Amino acid sequence: MNIAFIAHDKKKEDLVSFAMAYEQVLLNHALYSTGTTGKRIMESTNLDLHLFASGPLGGDQQIGAMIAENEMDLVIFFKDPLTAQPHEPDINALIRLCDVYSIPLATNMATAEILLSGLKRGEFKWREILKSGNQRKGNQDDA
Ligand code: PGA
Repeated sequence: MNIAFIAHDKKKEDLVSFAMAYEQVLLNHALYSTGTTGKRIMESTNLDLHLFASGPLGGDQQIGAMIAENEMDLVIFFKDPLTAQPHEPDINALIRLCDVYSIPLATNMATAEILLSGLKRGEFKWREILKSGNQRKGNQDDA
């Protein structure tokens, strides 16, 4: 699965702890993140993440682009609901795209725990089925 991580500044510590707790599960997946969040996770774990730009510099939009291409399977986004963000429109756009494409999205640790438990149990297989179905359809359209 392709999994994206984003955390606002006051939530980065929490996301790093979360990634440490689920490191063994996450090792089996392709991980992406906004710049600073990913750097912090890599400093504290053995996880390797593809780093996009920092959120305020377009990182949320880069993750959004992957969602629009149906290439992101799960988004873990620890939002800070108590601090205004300069890139609020980008944040809303990312959340909107998750809803447009039915991509599982956790915006807090409680939900993230449940999604990761589901991931551990193999409950995201439907994403692979959906993606291979789309690929087959693409191939037929090309023919
Ligand atoms: P960052 O971006 O990981 O580069 O800090 C996250 C954000 O604030 O959207």
